[in-house]
Amino acid sequence: MRLRGCDRDCRSCPLAKLCGGVEQYGVKGYRCPYAGCELKAPALKAMQECDVCRLEKVAWDLNEVEIAGLMSEVMGLERTDNQQLDLPEVVPAVPLRLAPTLRISSLGVSSVVINYQDLLDDKVRLEVLDKGGIHSYLGFGGKILLSSVMPDELLLREDVFEDFVRLFEAAGFDAVVGWDVPVYIDIPLYNSWVNLLMGLKLTHAIATRGVPVVGLLKGNVERQIAFSAEALSRMGIKTMGLHASEYMSAFKEDAAVRQILYTYFRWASKLASSLLLLGVLSYRWLNFTKVVVPKDLRLSLAGMGWLIDAERGLLYSGDGCIDAHSKFVMCTCSTCSGISPRELVADPNARARHNLNNLMERIRGNLSPKLHAYDLILKEDESALLASDLHLWTGRSLLSGFLELLRRELPTNMLFLGDTFDLERGRPNLLETTALFGTLRELGPAVLVAKGCSDGDQAALLRALDSITMEGHARPFLWTEIEDERVRDAALDLYKFYRCASDRLEVRLADGSVLLVHGSDIVEDRDSTLETAMKAMIKARAKANVRWLVMGHLHRAFIDNENGIASTGCWALGDMSRGNTTRKTDLKRAIVVHGDGELELIRGC
Ligand SMILES: [Zn+2]
Ligand SMILES: [Zn+2]
Ligand SMILES: [Zn+2]
Repeated sequence: MRLRGCDRDCRSCPLAKLCGGVEQYGVKGYRCPYAGCELKAPALKAMQECDVCRLEKVAWDLNEVEIAGLMSEVMGLERTDNQQLDLPEVVPAVPLRLAPTLRISSLGVSSVVINYQDLLDDKVRLEVLDKGGIHSYLGFGGKILLSSVMPDELLLREDVFEDFVRLFEAAGFDAVVGWDVPVYIDIPLYNSWVNLLMGLKLTHAIATRGVPVVGLLKGNVERQIAFSAEALSRMGIKTMGLHASEYMSAFKEDAAVRQILYTYFRWASKLASSLLLLGVLSYRWLNFTKVVVPKDLRLSLAGMGWLIDAERGLLYSGDGCIDAHSKFVMCTCSTCSGISPRELVADPNARARHNLNNLMERIRGNLSPKLHAYDLILKEDESALLASDLHLWTGRSLLSGFLELLRRELPTNMLFLGDTFDLERGRPNLLETTALFGTLRELGPAVLVAKGCSDGDQAALLRALDSITMEGHARPFLWTEIEDERVRDAALDLYKFYRCASDRLEVRLADGSVLLVHGSDIVEDRDSTLETAMKAMIKARAKANVRWLVMGHLHRAFIDNENGIASTGCWALGDMSRGNTTRKTDLKRAIVVHGDGELELIRGC
């Protein structure tokens, strides 16, 4: 982040006294941050009209006389009896669209931020007003702050400001964050000063109505930051806010950003009773804010990082996070009691509640336990079906029998233990592909995939996808042909299937012990004797320290209770050219794993 200078002549600028002149920053004139063109005043207008920049409106449009008036008005703003806001350490921002499902009253917080922008939806606004205000709409008795952080084109409109104030009163909010203005570092210094002054003027206008205000600190140079802090303080606003997310993400690489942020903290320490940091309520910034914010400054963290992370599938764990979209997690935190691992994978709101709780615990100084992730978690009365070695596309697969088994067993969890599609020796076959995925889609089990010896290679997968999507078609014309829907579905399904595959799967059983699933890597040579294979498995199980080790790949079906090893058999007739060792009793077999640790070998139809 760098100051790009100013397009005005300091000698005739009405703001010169306030600003102190652009010379002090070692820049001359103004350069457009997009294409580097040197621009004379009004530079913003030139950038708005430029067919490269196409800059949107980013500044209040005032003439020089109005600006001179604005400056003296802001300098003379009187003290208001703005109520001190006693904010807790965590003030989550919650989008109104989620309010009904997220249940704010269940979040365990005493204050939340709602964005004004969410209330631009007429339907939502009417509902809020019909229900008698924001508190009854949300069913939440705590403090509700209305935030003016919104897109620039709205911030810079007088009518939006008026509507904001009206809505605040009509909907019964408790406090305001604002008035926000865009004070970008790379717009002309002149315009950033004008915006800053307008922000202060409008903030004062809100405060004079007796509304508790969190005043926003603004600026990118010390003079601006100091001016904004002093003006807020003069108005009697002691709870100050800072939009920190952009600074935080550039903090490490950019020394200028560090300077700006430290300047903010210095002035807040001096003049604010507390600071609301906006846009930083995520696991990423917690340790960081602890370190960089001065100890004497009372700090509240606001934002929706915890929620956005939850929507992306992240579940906070310790002081980091895990990807709960690809793994199952069992959490025993107070928020998750009664929530199943399946819900944590499927329900973003459950993750959001957990994430927020994790942050609050950490802020309270409690250690947040590291969660352990599993590929699958089975409760006592739950089970999973394990099968392997369909060797689809080879012409030897017993797919129809396998699909019958699926329809008979109706598993809630289906684990494929390798060699499902034979990407090495098979020829892609659309019919088999859509038959398998169609049935899975129809029956709807959770599907987990381990890679085997013939379907573990990414290059082979790409070759198969190439063949399905492009074989027999001229490449330059692929985009003008009408796509076959079955081809598209098959390619996408296959892609997803193998992008979700891993070398091993860890299944947690009800008593906490683990069943480990492998494709092929424990016994590389499939033609080794059963005895050798079993020995290798026993060794591997002991090394992994798990209760069960189950493998595909061997084309042998057995359960060895004593040694805790098992193998799933296969669903493909023997390959005569490779010296067939498969027996009839290995064919069309599968294993049911029960949550209580029992394994059961079953026969297909
Ligand atoms: Zn330009
Ligand atoms: Zn939890
Ligand atoms: Zn196989």
